[in-house]
Amino acid sequence: AKDNGGNSFQFYTPVMHDAALKRLQLEYQLRRAIELDELTLHYQPQVDLRHGTIVGMEALIRWNHPQMGLITPGSFIGMAEETGLILPIGIWVLRTACLQAKKWQDMGHDNLRIAVNLSARQFVQTDLTETIADILQQTGLPPHCLEIELTESSVMADIERHLLILHAIKALGVHLSVDDFGTGHSSLAYLKRFPIDTLKIDRSFVRDIALHQDDASIVATIIALGHNLHLQVIAEGVETENQMAVLRAQGCDQMQGYYFSKPLPAEQIEALFLDQQIT
Ligand code: C2E
Ligand code: CA
Ligand code: CA
Ligand code: CA
Repeated sequence: AKDNGGNSFQFYTPVMHDAALKRLQLEYQLRRAIELDELTLHYQPQVDLRHGTIVGMEALIRWNHPQMGLITPGSFIGMAEETGLILPIGIWVLRTACLQAKKWQDMGHDNLRIAVNLSARQFVQTDLTETIADILQQTGLPPHCLEIELTESSVMADIERHLLILHAIKALGVHLSVDDFGTGHSSLAYLKRFPIDTLKIDRSFVRDIALHQDDASIVATIIALGHNLHLQVIAEGVETENQMAVLRAQGCDQMQGYYFSKPLPAEQIEALFLDQQIT
């Protein structure tokens, strides 16, 4: 296959063929992951910085792959979005997370909130609002105990249409949170129009907050912005006591991160935190 003057069939090298095959195989397996019960959710506590109590949990998906073991979302959410598999997966996540939260509430954690990530592709689903309403009704979870996390870029893509959907979801009583805040490119003018409740400070700003004044200033500014807009502010990726101390001094409302806990399976969350603390 040489000397073809750049003929395209030279692209099919054994290496690429192998990679494409692996990808196809993974896609096929992901397609069956729901019915084979291979998807699972881990939960990471969200902690009130003033009282030190757990006020919520973020649900984070994992794939228990029969050969590869536990796979984190970075390795398959992209593919799920490209193939549209994120739609059934997203519904599974919502239902599973709401069921779990309801179970925890029934154990006595009355106001425990569950945060669920929604990817941009899920906005394409025309009946998204209805789907959320149905799941809330079926699981019995009070709407204000569900928080949907979205990124700025997923909303900015088709702003007018997405604003309508956000308002419809908000009208159900569900809370909305802007994830990875500060890394997207939303303008402040649009932020004002989002019917949101929470800003989630991206962990890239939190990382050096106790080391660099610049990062501390950015975080302080986001907290002030959020509070001026009457929003709750939560910091993600909190890994050290120093970071927590700075955030607390700055008046940040909540934190989430390895310092308090990694994301864990429901049973471990219960054993470690919920059995002792009745919120
Ligand atoms: P994210 O929503 O920004 O979630 C936070 C990520 O940071 C999680 O990674 C979490 O495990 C990790 N993390 C938490 N605390 C710390 C910390 O203190 N330090 C560091 N270095 N990392 C921390 P994970 O679970 O691998 O999820 C990655 C991303 O995958 C999420 O980012 C989210 O965008 C996406 N994702 C996860 N679950 C779902 C889901 O159910 N649906 C959708 N559409 N996306 C999901
Ligand atoms: Ca998130
Ligand atoms: Ca985030
Ligand atoms: Ca992120």
